[in-house]
Amino acid sequence: MSERVFISPAKYVQGKNTIDRIGDHVGHFGSQALLIADDIVWRLIGERVTDSLKASGVNAEKADFVGEASRHEIERIAKAAAESHTAVVIGMGGGKTLDTAKAVADELDARIVIVPTIASTDAPTSALSVIYTDEGNFETYRFYKKNPDLVLVDTKLIAEAPARFLASGIADALATWVEVRSVLAFGGKTMAGGVPTIAAEAIAKRCEEVLFDYGILAYESVKAKVVTPALESVVEANTLLSGLGFESGGLAAAHAIHNGFTALHGDIHHLTHGEKVAFGTLVQLALEGRTQAEFDRYIALYMALELPVTLEDVKLKDASREDILKVGQAATAEGETIHSGFDVTPEQVADAIIAADRYARLYQSKLR
Ligand SMILES: [Zn+2]
Repeated sequence: MSERVFISPAKYVQGKNTIDRIGDHVGHFGSQALLIADDIVWRLIGERVTDSLKASGVNAEKADFVGEASRHEIERIAKAAAESHTAVVIGMGGGKTLDTAKAVADELDARIVIVPTIASTDAPTSALSVIYTDEGNFETYRFYKKNPDLVLVDTKLIAEAPARFLASGIADALATWVEVRSVLAFGGKTMAGGVPTIAAEAIAKRCEEVLFDYGILAYESVKAKVVTPALESVVEANTLLSGLGFESGGLAAAHAIHNGFTALHGDIHHLTHGEKVAFGTLVQLALEGRTQAEFDRYIALYMALELPVTLEDVKLKDASREDILKVGQAATAEGETIHSGFDVTPEQVADAIIAADRYARLYQSKLR
């Protein structure tokens, strides 16, 4: 029998300058906190977070995040903190810092608080980390018993980060409904270990509506470094709605195709997660045989957000059919999320990649 499973963080808090109130939300976890951040993030917010914690009676110990979200880095930080009786681990920064903090909290059996300083992916709310080798290559997913105890997002920090990060987060979040919809149609399983709930379906659908309504306005807000209602809505869609949506609603072809691109060498690796997912989403739409009107709608939004829509944009202009087929093979490898939404062969994926590129170029040619 298929069980419906829904998981989520215990608490989500979002607002302008909200890091100055982190102590109010963390104080009851215990009196000893381990703060994990890299140098840049520490200089940006370290003192404000420490001050707020101190006001709530929480003592803060700092751990420098210096490398990768790798086994070594996790072990190193966990070992250094082993004698400190850490009640709560607070990860502050981008994806790799946050993934490391989740793993360290798991090792120390402590509460985990996630403070994303950019809204570039939907990973913060999830009960999993992506673990890399020390050289920065994907190694494995690490799953945890529970989601974060608190996810706290300061929209002032997001507004002051480069706009490219927000656009990447929008692309990651735009994939959510496209993928959940195919998991629902196929009867597939989700990252939470069951079939999607009505809650996850509703959240994923609303995520997409918010992004089409406010995505461009939010992008412009970040370019101007101002916090607006549009930005607040899109940060929630990128972080909370997409996070709950993908984890309890499921991933499908778009993310598998993203992973498939790692089978290739070259400049594609300079793209962000969300940028690769943007093109992967177009490929999924091509696989599904969606209408021209639907393609045009996505391509227009991606282009307004300066996201990649063609093979040239993802640095694969000169890729051979053989290379494209390699992506198709990697995307359809056993265990890949494409199988939660599709019955599909590597050849079909390769054809869809070529078709998606062609559709985007057709759209662009009409603009000239
Ligand atoms: Zn993603």
